[in-house]
Amino acid sequence: MTTRIHAPIAGIVCALEQVPDPVFAQKIVGDGLAIEPLADRLLAPFDGEIVAVAPTGHSVTLRSDGGIELLIHIGIDTVALGGKGFVPMVAAGDRVAAGDALIGLDLDHIALAAPSLATPIVVTTAGAAIGFRAGPGPIAAGELLLEIEAPAAADAAAPGGVQATAHVRAILPGGHGIHARPAARISALARAFGGEVRVACRDRSADAKSVTSLLALGAIAGDELDIRVVGPEPRAFAVQLAEIIAHSGADDGDAVTPARPDEDAADTPLRPGEFRAVRASPGLAVGPVFRIEGADAPIAVETGEPREELARLTAARERLVLRLAARASDPDAGPAAAIAQAHIALVEDVALGERAAALIAGGASAAFAWRQASRQEEEALCSTGVARLAERAIDLRDIERQLLAELAGTVPDAVEVPAGAIIVAADLAPSFLLEPARANIGGILLGAGGATSHLAILAAARGVPMLVAAGAGAAALAQGATIVLDADRARVETAPDAARIAGVRTDLAARRARAADALAAAAQDCVMADGRRIEIFANLASADDARHAVAMGAEGCGLLRTEFLFAECDTPPGEDWQAGVYADIATALGGRPLIVRTLDAGADKPLRCLPFAPEENPALGMRGIRFSMQRPDVLATQLRAILRGVPATQLRIMLPMVVEPGELRAARALLDDARRDLGIAAPVELGAMIETPAAAILADAIAVEADFLSIGSNDLAQYALAMDRGNAGLAARIDALHPAVLRLIAAAAEGARKHGRWFGICGGIASDPDAAPLLIGLGCRELSSVANPIPAIKARVRTLDLAACEHLARRACALGSAEAVRALLGKEKP
Ligand code: PEP
Ligand code: MG
Repeated sequence: MTTRIHAPIAGIVCALEQVPDPVFAQKIVGDGLAIEPLADRLLAPFDGEIVAVAPTGHSVTLRSDGGIELLIHIGIDTVALGGKGFVPMVAAGDRVAAGDALIGLDLDHIALAAPSLATPIVVTTAGAAIGFRAGPGPIAAGELLLEIEAPAAADAAAPGGVQATAHVRAILPGGHGIHARPAARISALARAFGGEVRVACRDRSADAKSVTSLLALGAIAGDELDIRVVGPEPRAFAVQLAEIIAHSGADDGDAVTPARPDEDAADTPLRPGEFRAVRASPGLAVGPVFRIEGADAPIAVETGEPREELARLTAARERLVLRLAARASDPDAGPAAAIAQAHIALVEDVALGERAAALIAGGASAAFAWRQASRQEEEALCSTGVARLAERAIDLRDIERQLLAELAGTVPDAVEVPAGAIIVAADLAPSFLLEPARANIGGILLGAGGATSHLAILAAARGVPMLVAAGAGAAALAQGATIVLDADRARVETAPDAARIAGVRTDLAARRARAADALAAAAQDCVMADGRRIEIFANLASADDARHAVAMGAEGCGLLRTEFLFAECDTPPGEDWQAGVYADIATALGGRPLIVRTLDAGADKPLRCLPFAPEENPALGMRGIRFSMQRPDVLATQLRAILRGVPATQLRIMLPMVVEPGELRAARALLDDARRDLGIAAPVELGAMIETPAAAILADAIAVEADFLSIGSNDLAQYALAMDRGNAGLAARIDALHPAVLRLIAAAAEGARKHGRWFGICGGIASDPDAAPLLIGLGCRELSSVANPIPAIKARVRTLDLAACEHLARRACALGSAEAVRALLGKEKP
């Protein structure tokens, strides 16, 4: 049987391959066409039924009377608009006739806010074949767009049908296993794929479409996963999924990392009235205990009509997703945005939804059904025995609380907390900290909880001191009792006397005054006490990062990690798209200098879109500029995109993993070709990262070819100390303040000085205000940090004088260990 699909909107037809989103362009979702819309209403393309409308209104799935399923996705990345610009006029289950209005569109808003208006129209029925396909060019609404032949009856009837099965295995690398964000990504892909996707680990098996089911696998680093895919072309999808899973450990790279538990402090003896806990966010607080007991809100167990209850639950989930999507797309939300994204995946979770629906069908109320379903998942997470997954159980409880409030039409958690109070609870949900009224709490002490929970991430980002795993000590604290929460020393003082309380208050006032002064002065250029100018730049990966960094006082970007452009793509991103992204970042920097690092692929940054042969020792393998020279086509495309996107007045280009001057010459030849092609006469500075001992030692030779040098202390420490930067067991020992690393930095600085080259540092150690005197003393004249410490770094640098810094650097280089250098700086390893 043939199904005729009529254009659901007037516009310009283009091939799916031209859509700037690999999931559609590579037909991972299905085959079809795209339309660049020119009208403000999406219409039904045939007679049939609405299968689903995204809660944000940006996509709709329909089933024709002939059984063909069609997905229409308005624009690219439009889920991030949180529903703004879309007015759904239909709901799941509605019957529609061809030409009925489905979704109203504010095209101006969508065009401005989304990367592209291209609207993929994709057949998702397995085995269906496209007969007629409209050619590229203008089309009117209602004109014939596609003709689809339904799959042969046998194929459609049997679940196996023409569908094949593929099996692949993947090993989870170091990192956090399959946790919320990778699980959300895997489930989104599995849902888009449409076939059956199962992931098994040890004795557990998960439906990959369900985030909670994936989390409940309890898969940890080193686990072997078995991926089974049933559907059209299952092998390609299984391999793709295996790669994503194999890279899931790197997922948290840019997230705010909470401070590590303070083990040293745990070793020092306790004073009377003190007990220990684990540090989740540093800082100091004094204030009255405010206990929050997590009693369950009363709900009805059974009510109403199952159809109505299910509809209420669906509507409440949709409303909650909209609420969370607004936060997820808020550029100022910081880590709360990523957490909201993970929470959306939980609200939309297929397995949770199905379990709740089954309970409702059995007579349960919507609220009771969701609570039961959610608590079962909590138990499953806790029973994995994996601390990091057990920490996520509180996220489920958080969603439950918010969803129940949606169902009841109330505001969740209206507890009034007195200013300055120290919250004491068994555990707390991350959304607790998101309410504006919580901005002035003193600190958080949890009986249970985890140091890497979402609450800990938010607390660290907001400067709220927090201790967890306090056990009975927390339980024994009386409501209203004044305590000192010393998260820096990982302990609680239960009976501070008046002198101690006054001392802590004085200390806190001084810290606040210093932070306020630093922030107030952050926008000013950074000049040392002796008048020497030091540039304080920021490390960036996106335009949002750039806006935040400028607000924190960044004077430019010392390292744009361009890997992020390639990370999520299935094919290397094209020149136009890259140019657009670079232009956005340059604009966000408002004319400040922008150092763009060319693609640093390989080792700890593997890329799905540029796979290379397995290497026994990837950290010493085909990475950085070596990889780029093996794929000059990719480098040439990137160089052209950078030249087109970033104004010459702002631009410097930097090469990663350089070991010798010849690499600069080869890259400059490609850069000159690109400039010639594009008619760019202005010279563009080309610099080298110094992140291998070879480059540090050969810096004088490299500086002949390079316009500037910048230390990558993360890799320099890894290669100098022969310690893998991703090896958790070595985390306490790999330290860029090791004198061997410092001497290499000094050698590189000398090479730059010899040829009058600009010399900076963009590795992680540059983000530590206490390391600034040493780095300046070693010769760095630019420090490129993550954004938040910039005010404190500037404040510190303004107090320094070069002669004292150089003296400090000489003393540090003469020492024998990183511990000794840290002792000299009066600083413990974080
Ligand atoms: C470094 O190695 O210090 C560096 C800045 O590069 P990345 O961390 O991206 O490898
Ligand atoms: Mg590096």
